[in-house]
Amino acid sequence: MLYVVATPIGNLNDISPRAISALNSSDMILAEDTRVTRVLLSRYGIDKPMLSYHQHSKIKKINDIIGFLKAGKTLSLVSDAGTPGINDPGNFLIQEILKELPGLKIVPVPGPNAAIAALSVSGFPSDKFIFLGFPPHKKGRQTFFKRIGDIEETVVFYESKHRILKALQELREMSNIAERPIMVARELTKQFETIYRGTAGDTLEQLNKTKVLGEFVVVVKAK
Ligand code: SAM
Repeated sequence: MLYVVATPIGNLNDISPRAISALNSSDMILAEDTRVTRVLLSRYGIDKPMLSYHQHSKIKKINDIIGFLKAGKTLSLVSDAGTPGINDPGNFLIQEILKELPGLKIVPVPGPNAAIAALSVSGFPSDKFIFLGFPPHKKGRQTFFKRIGDIEETVVFYESKHRILKALQELREMSNIAERPIMVARELTKQFETIYRGTAGDTLEQLNKTKVLGEFVVVVKAK
């Protein structure tokens, strides 16, 4: 079987007992970056062989993984942080596994996810919301922000430290977003966790006063 195991997004205490037991009962752990996962495993005294599986993994690696599953091995898939498959490797692997082993038990072990964590403290309507992942870097970026302006529901997206100021400027420049409340979540669950609230312009001003480091989630309130 294959466990798809969510891991902490910063605070190593945010791992569930069930995640630890899934990892402990695995013959092998598929990790996006084995160095990152090793830190987590050693914190919990989990000593299992690891195999790297990431977005550039070749089909040969996927076939090897399918081979282990065919041989009856129990595997766990983790990414560097949060839930595998959510803007992280995993989906293609699962798709390929299902082609060969349609009856395989694939078990989610739910846990941290940056988008949901941010949304949970936003105070914005979240009975429905749209998650848009990362804005494109160049081509399609304008369309991405234009689309947010047209969406009625609360919107959640990820942005890197390199482009967060640009993203907030882009939101500020959209006439149908500029006055909408937004929330920027920085470094969730980590030492420098900070939540910025206000309009895009307000949050830009607040962020401009700091060294722009860390990881970010942006939440735009429903219309
Ligand atoms: N699979 C992950 C999840 O479940 O949240 C997301 C992986 S995606 C490659 C990484 C992005 O998620 C970061 O660039 C940032 O936008 C967001 N992110 C991850 N951890 C975060 C944190 N602790 N605080 C704020 N944003 C975070």
